[in-house]
Amino acid sequence: MTNKIEPEETIFSKIIRQEIPTPLLYQDELVTAFRDISPQAKCHILIIPNKLIPTVNDIVEQDELTLGRLFTVANKLAKEEGIADDGYRLIMNCNNHGGQEVYHIHMHLVGGQPMGKMLNI
Ligand code: 5GP
Repeated sequence: MTNKIEPEETIFSKIIRQEIPTPLLYQDELVTAFRDISPQAKCHILIIPNKLIPTVNDIVEQDELTLGRLFTVANKLAKEEGIADDGYRLIMNCNNHGGQEVYHIHMHLVGGQPMGKMLNI
């Protein structure tokens, strides 16, 4: 018998289950979206899979439908927020060098103002 170590839940799992009440902008059977608690732009939304995937390194082929849904929901929310035509940025951070803080993958949708240069290294 193999002892598979389950990834540790983060605060995002509690938000998905609404154990921590956070207004949801979107939720379906695959993904959930809500505003970032510490917005880095006028519009800063997080779109996350309901399934706990800790990092982009942990993605498997079976996750492709869910990951595609992150983009269709980003598209829908950008239109609803009125930022689609001016444009916006989608960001996913991975591990230490990527600056990841919450180990439940999430797409940042940021916009509402010019985003400037892509990287400030
Ligand atoms: P990362 O650096 O992992 O890519 O981004 C994590 C993001 O999650 C940060 O932008 C942070 O502000 C946001 N965040 C962390 N905890 C919470 C929370 O409890 N609620 C919400 N809405 N956002 C959170």
